[in-house]
This record gives sequence, C-alpha cells and structure tokens, in this order.
Amino acid sequence: EGYERSRKLPARLVAELAQARALAVDAWRKAKEAADFKTFAPHLERLIALNIEQAELLGYEEDRYDALLDGFEPDMPARAVDEVFAELKEGLVPLVAAVAEKPQVDDSPLRGRFDKQQQWDFGMDVLHAIGFDLARGRQDESAHPFTTSFSNDDVRITTNIVEDDWTSGLFSTLHEAGHGIHAQGIPSELIGTPLMWRRSLAISESPSRLWENVVGRSRAFWEHFLPKMKQYFPQLADVDLDTFYRAINIVKPSLIRTDADELTYNLHIFVRFDLERALIAEKLKVSELPDAWNDKMKAYLGIVPDNDAKGVLQDIHWASGYFGYFPTYALGNLLSVQFYEQAVKEHPDIPEQIRQGQFDTLRVWTNGRIHRYGALFPLMEIVRRVTGRGLDGRPYMEYLRTKYTEIYGL
Ligand code: ZN
Repeated sequence: EGYERSRKLPARLVAELAQARALAVDAWRKAKEAADFKTFAPHLERLIALNIEQAELLGYEEDRYDALLDGFEPDMPARAVDEVFAELKEGLVPLVAAVAEKPQVDDSPLRGRFDKQQQWDFGMDVLHAIGFDLARGRQDESAHPFTTSFSNDDVRITTNIVEDDWTSGLFSTLHEAGHGIHAQGIPSELIGTPLMWRRSLAISESPSRLWENVVGRSRAFWEHFLPKMKQYFPQLADVDLDTFYRAINIVKPSLIRTDADELTYNLHIFVRFDLERALIAEKLKVSELPDAWNDKMKAYLGIVPDNDAKGVLQDIHWASGYFGYFPTYALGNLLSVQFYEQAVKEHPDIPEQIRQGQFDTLRVWTNGRIHRYGALFPLMEIVRRVTGRGLDGRPYMEYLRTKYTEIYGL
C-alpha cells in the first residue's frame, strides 16, 4: 500500500517535498513565534503546489483531496467524510451555541496546586486499573505526550504532569494508555510484519478517545475513582461527584485545538478540513487563508483569534506537508463512540463494571474485535467487521447531545 503510493512518485518530487517540508517547518516556527503569517505564506504555497502535483501523480477518482487523504486514511473518500461531518456540524454548532447561553459550571475542582508526585502515583494507579500492561510497557514524562511501540511487548507512553492543572497529566495518561492498549493488543503473529501497526489513523485514535473521553470523562468512571483521588488529594475532600463530573466536562470554546474540550474539539477539525480541501482544490489562495480561518472560527466556534499565532499558524501539520491528516482526529472521536456502543450492545454490563472499577471486559473486547486486525484492513472494513454496518455519526452525536444536555440543563 505505502509501496504502491511511493512507486508512483518520481524521486525528484519526493526529494523536493522533503526539502520543502524541512524549510517550511523552520519558517513556521519563526512565523508562529512572531505571529507573522506573511513569512510562512511562500512556504505553504510551495507545499500546496507540491501536494497538488503529488495528488495528480497518485491519481484519484472524483476529488484531488482523496489522493492525499488516502495517505492517512486509505480507502476513505472525502465524499464519505463530508457526509458524516455535515451531519455532525449540523448537530454540533447549535449544541455548542446553546451551551454558551447557559451559566458556566463550577470549575473549582480543576483549580489549585496538585503535588506532582501524588499526581504521578494516582495516574499509575489508573493506568494499572484500566489494564495497560506495565510488564509490557512503561510510562515516562514528556512535554508533549506520545506513544511509541517497538513491539506489543515494549510499549512506551508519556504524560505531561502540570502542578496547577491536574487534568493535563491524568487525561494524557488515559489518552496515551488507549494508544498503548491498542499497541499491546496487536497479535504477535503480525509483529515484525508490515501489518503490525496502523493503516488507519482514525482507528489508531479511536481507543485513545475511548479511554480518555468516553470512559475517562464518564460519571461511572469517577464513581469509582473520585474516592481514590481524594485519598491522594485531601483538598478535594468536600467535592461531590456531580460537581466534579461537570467540572471535568466543562465546555469552553477555545482558540487552540489542543486545548479544546470534548464537545468543541471537532469544530476545530471542521475549520481545518474545509480550508485544506479548498486550498488543494485551488478554490482558496494562501493569501486569503488567515481571513478564511477567522471566518470559519467565527461560524463554528463563535470566537476569533486576535493574531495568527493563535489562529492559522497554531498547528504544525500543514508546515509538515500533511494535507488530509486532520479529519482522522474527528473520525477517531466518532469511532470511539460507535465502537463503545457496539461493545455495550454485546456486553450490557460494561457501564456497571466501569462503576466498579472493572475494565477487563471492555479492554478485552477492543483487543479481540478491533486491535487484532492491526493494519490488515482499512477503516471502513474494520467498522463493518466490528459493528456490522458502515461509519455512522449518529451514535456520537447522540452521545454528545445526551451528555451535555444533562450537564448544562439544556
Ligand atoms: Zn492520539
């Protein structure tokens, strides 16, 4: 698959892309620091031109963007992404607007100083409880959390512990643990073959969103873990479950994608998806991009950055020459819920087990039903095998609507 793609590209283009990327990333860092889009613009123009050339050589049926998306999400046409995104957009934009009208939830459980060692110890307890196998993996600290796996027996995750924001460490741990559980669940017979790791970025992102959000921000999860957390942090002694649950699910439209809450996160993806499709289709010029960015932010999130560092320059993806990467994040979110719904259909006791701090059924189900495929199949085929139907945005939208209607009393 990867070989098929690269065989179609002349060595000259591959080299030009690599060089343009290196220069662009460098220019992007400086431009972001100075909030100066103009110095980055020529690099972005060059990368778009090379990506268009690449797409034309790779070939596509209906949409040039498909050839690029295919590098991150094989066999997933942009048309199919459009369909699910359109449905989500229609549900999400008014939902976020309705939440914004409501009084904000009490976020005091998120504030204050939390001892770093205590945070680390609590995070390790959680990691152990959900079943990340610490005999076949480890956790370390890093500024930007990530997962690397050398085999299913050597899986390393990192977390970023921040003294005055305990959510950073814990939810990073849960997110990366999802990637780690995925990696530990790849069958040994695939290890060392090209079928070992991801083929679909959305499939890779779905277990991390499952553990971070669907499980880790659920009331059931905290019914079990809040009393444990209070043992580490006496300052939470008087916080009741409801207040805590609302606080960790606070909705605050933000300018920065990586700071976004569960509800508004996908709107950040829609901004980028719309714009990169227009750029690749040559319907939008790079010079028009900052204004187009701000217009999309206004339309989807109702807020506009006061400079480009907090806007169009915030992510490294385009500077890295990645067009077609962003939609995989939102697809991963959507899949986390579609898969969870299927797991609960097959094992209706899963929510009760989570309440009891038991995660084996869910974890074993994800390993047996999803992770076992490694990179054998593209997304659509795995979704069909797991759920018996195609990609479906409705369970995800329903999940968000139910959750936030309850939290914000809509
Ligand atoms: Zn991830």
